[in-house]
Amino acid sequence: MTERKQDDLWRDFPKTATEFEARFATEEDCRGYWIEARWGGQPACARCNSTRVWSERGGFLFECAECGHQTSLTSGTLLEKTRKPFKVWFRAVFEISTRRTGISAKDLQRILGFGSYRTAWTWLHKLRAAMVRSDSEALGPFVQIDEALVGGKGGPHKELVLIAAEAGGRVRLAHVENNDAGTLKRFADGQIAAGTHVVTDGHAGYNSESLGKRPHDAVVQTKPERRENDAVQSCHWTISLLKRWLLGTHAGAVRDKHLQAYLDEFAFRYNRRKTKGVGRIAARVIEQLVGHAPLPTRRIIKETKRCRWFAPSQTAPELRA
Ligand SMILES: [Zn+2]
Repeated sequence: MTERKQDDLWRDFPKTATEFEARFATEEDCRGYWIEARWGGQPACARCNSTRVWSERGGFLFECAECGHQTSLTSGTLLEKTRKPFKVWFRAVFEISTRRTGISAKDLQRILGFGSYRTAWTWLHKLRAAMVRSDSEALGPFVQIDEALVGGKGGPHKELVLIAAEAGGRVRLAHVENNDAGTLKRFADGQIAAGTHVVTDGHAGYNSESLGKRPHDAVVQTKPERRENDAVQSCHWTISLLKRWLLGTHAGAVRDKHLQAYLDEFAFRYNRRKTKGVGRIAARVIEQLVGHAPLPTRRIIKETKRCRWFAPSQTAPELRA
């Protein structure tokens, strides 16, 4: 789809609950939007790409007149194999996009009337995957780096999170095993543009080995000095918001192996805190539900690795925000 058309889709997206309910009143309304987002309005055969297709099963499948292949509207997307109507998915997208602080699985379960908590939980993971994008630009030209211990409701167990924050701008967060020089280097190289001026609190791991040629101020401060003029203020604000979000919206119920997915969602919301477009975010989420590869529940549950950002492959995937 052209960028222009993409733009029109989000511009037209409802901004209030009333508008939303009018625009997406029926399953057909939602399906029409989905077809617009996926194929620019005209479905094409997944096998031969022909647009000579017939609708089957009440519009949920279509069959190709050229090769006979049947394509479902959701195959190959994040909604693949869903048994629920588009209408329910659209409602979930609207809820997750309009709430400034997101939504918990428990709340989603209640709003959508699901019998099972697990269904709501897997939906949220899919929506979270759709919320983040992988093409974000590296941070710069002034960035603070810090770290924090996060989580561990009712226990001594805490998880280490690295934070990089532009002064007053965007953030990136990574759940890591430790803060050795190699880990810090992968974080810096993956997230922070070359030549960026870096400020840290003087932790020994931040050096020319981990930060490369980036200019670096290691500012060691006493508590009173920090109160006066905190050198890594943006990081500290981010951390306290993050902790409040994990405890508030998610009631501290985030398991360590899923922490990175929550950090991605947090960064996505935080980095868009000045965007006024609810419609824009919701339209973007639908666009990503269409464009993202399927994410089977089994994979969310079994194959998610703790600290997957630094999985043994050693190739750090981009943080998505
Ligand atoms: Zn075909």
